[in-house]
Amino acid sequence: MAGRNFLFVPGPTNVPDRILRAMAVPMEDHRSSKFPELTLRCLADLKRIFKTGSGTPIIFPSSGTGCWEAALTNCLNPGDRVLAARFGQFTHLWIDMCQRLGFEVEVLEVEWGEGAPVDRYRSALEADRNRSIKAVLVCQNETATGVASDVAAIGRVLADTRHPALLFVDAVSSLASIDFRMDEWGVDVCISGSQKGLMLPAGLGVTCVSEKALAAAKSARSPRCYFDYRDMVVANASGYFPYTPSIPMLYGLRESLQMLLEEGLENVIYRHNYLAGGVRAAIFEGWKLSLCARAPQWYSDTVSAVMVPPGIDGAAVIARAFERYNLALGAGLARVAGKLFRIGHLGDCNELMLMAALAGAELAMLDCGVRIEAGSGVAAAAGYWRSRPAPAGAHA
Ligand SMILES: *Cc1c(COP(=O)(O)O)cnc(C)c1O
Repeated sequence: MAGRNFLFVPGPTNVPDRILRAMAVPMEDHRSSKFPELTLRCLADLKRIFKTGSGTPIIFPSSGTGCWEAALTNCLNPGDRVLAARFGQFTHLWIDMCQRLGFEVEVLEVEWGEGAPVDRYRSALEADRNRSIKAVLVCQNETATGVASDVAAIGRVLADTRHPALLFVDAVSSLASIDFRMDEWGVDVCISGSQKGLMLPAGLGVTCVSEKALAAAKSARSPRCYFDYRDMVVANASGYFPYTPSIPMLYGLRESLQMLLEEGLENVIYRHNYLAGGVRAAIFEGWKLSLCARAPQWYSDTVSAVMVPPGIDGAAVIARAFERYNLALGAGLARVAGKLFRIGHLGDCNELMLMAALAGAELAMLDCGVRIEAGSGVAAAAGYWRSRPAPAGAHA
């Protein structure tokens, strides 16, 4: 088919040409005297993305899921108790992983469309008099429902209750897009991956561990080998890896970090909020539809999950968008399958790219019998963006 494919799933995201070019490199000796320059540069720049002074970034050859497992097996002892909330497919999968690895999970069940229930985290931690909860798990951005949670508030709960549990945060679809502050919020392990806000192909697990988490890893008895933090930290200190790293991915990461820092991290965060605002204007004011996220406090700036009206199959809208208009929208997962479609608006994105996604979603919805007015979403987004300050730093 002529023309390009429009990729608007919330990961993998579009890889900028600059990164694609940076990745087209010949292989080199990863044990050469020159190699540490690349590693150390990536790790130093990652500290700025995680907003940490004392934390240690680690890059695993995995996806984000590998870093979930690394956090659990490096910091906990077999059978340890953890506290987690379930409100979407990703929070579900992380809890499922905890259980399959033999940890005991105290699950806070939450309606899909809401986020981390701060007061219930507080009650659970207060009730834990003998301090048997060893880790608190929070997903900053539940990609399945387009719900963002207040990680800072959970960090404050741990501080207020003087609970010694470690704080593990899934920032896979929020790092480098939605504000994240490792040190200020008291996060012990932040988990992310390469194919979302970092604008790279999938293939790197990007994580950051606090001094407290590294100390826990020294004595934790859960079996792990390939994902052992200690081997990584020792090798990384001199700029090397304990096994062969993906060289193109590291060059891509270096370029991605360079681009983010050139734009300015605060500008990147503003751009995501601004672009998401336009998408939400299209959904609410243009199409008169609703989000899966139930209230503004939960709205995600990286992905919008649009509820389709009763009687319409969300999967049919997605199939139509893909087959007829070359547009990839995100599917409804598990419990929300068929009930919604998702528009990813993270990573390398601007107004006109999103106009294409909104226009394509309109066409597909009209074809599937959704009663919206043609052009209404695009017009509402235009009104939103034209009335707000343009993001700074994003133009070459
Ligand atoms: C994508 C995603 C994951 C899974 O990451 P992979 O890189 O696919 O392993 C986990 N959590 C959230 C919130 C995600 O968006």
